Amino acid sequence: MPLDTLKRPLRDLRISVTDRCNFRCPYCMPAEVFGERYKFLSKAQMLSFEEITRLASVFVGLGVTKLRITGGEPLVRADLEKLIAMLAGIPGVEDMAMTTNGYILAGHAQPLKDAGLSRVTVSLDSLDEKIFGELNGLGHSVDRVLEGIQAANDAGLTPIKVNSVVVRGVNDHTVVDLARWCKERGYIARFIEFMDVGSLNGWDESQVVPAREILDRINEELPIEPATPNYTGEVAQRWRYTDGDGEMGVIASVTAPFCGDCTRARLSTDGKLYTCLFGTDGADLMGPMRDGATDTELTAIIDGVWNRREDRYSELRASLRRALSVTAKDSGPRKVEMYKIGG
Ligand code: SAM
Ligand code: SF4
Ligand code: SF4
Repeated sequence: MPLDTLKRPLRDLRISVTDRCNFRCPYCMPAEVFGERYKFLSKAQMLSFEEITRLASVFVGLGVTKLRITGGEPLVRADLEKLIAMLAGIPGVEDMAMTTNGYILAGHAQPLKDAGLSRVTVSLDSLDEKIFGELNGLGHSVDRVLEGIQAANDAGLTPIKVNSVVVRGVNDHTVVDLARWCKERGYIARFIEFMDVGSLNGWDESQVVPAREILDRINEELPIEPATPNYTGEVAQRWRYTDGDGEMGVIASVTAPFCGDCTRARLSTDGKLYTCLFGTDGADLMGPMRDGATDTELTAIIDGVWNRREDRYSELRASLRRALSVTAKDSGPRKVEMYKIGG
């Protein structure tokens, strides 16, 4: 099993199944960039279900036990349940989750469960209709997402996690409402610091609400205490409510980086392997596969990439941002966008 240069094994694979999305969240796919004329990948440029499944089984051979299906919005890819069933059939996959914006989840929840999906994480930035409409970029109503979450719960895609990106001055005053709503229903709210992924979302550090501040706000109304991590490398810091009823978490990629335990690889829709959320280049797997590479050859490519991996962007954020902003001016390397690799 490969270890990277910081002795981190390869355990998780995030698979982006589409670069398209039915939302235009300003922190991810701002509407002014992703307008009607934006050219998304054609079908031929996307990995087929057979290709995704083949690559996933090669990754499992290298130590991956957890899969996360993401996007873009994974549910806009047609027949997704078929892919889920194919991936669920790979021996060695212990857990398969999906991150979705939940907007069309209600009609898919039971078929996804039947196909072998273990659980879902639904992104929901606020329960407030106006703020939610602003943060999905299209004025979509929150009700559809709430129906999706309910359907996922009914189908047993549990435990349900609810992800919320917190942006200062936009939704930071609604975190307690969302935490309470989740607590009352047995869902795990997870508040994410606004990250400088990609280069299109106009990230500005002043819009980041540090996890400590989010925790303080919640603790004032719903007292919490730290809980032990479920496993090494868990992205969220876990906190439990002191009344014994439920837990929540924060993902503090900006103020408390967790690169030391990062065991995640990302496969983009067009078949590139990224070893960091903030990577600039992906290693092409689609090309070699379509040129006839055997599983052994694909294994060797991935193994080589992982062995050379040095990524720890969040720990080095300040200096790397400076370096990237200099090269970007000369059309140098740019960070991959979140909608391509799925978070
Ligand atoms: N469309 C699906 C969704 O929104 O759940 C899956 C893909 S989305 C890229 C995955 C996760 O990344 C979502 O929870 C989203 O909120 C988060 N995300 C996107 N851009 C982000 C940013 N700039 N900072 C922090 N989280 C971000
Ligand atoms: Fe779409 Fe998810 Fe990005 Fe929002 S965060 S634009 S829902 S891919
Ligand atoms: Fe992993 Fe890169 Fe995020 Fe660090 S910055 S935790 S290496 S994805």
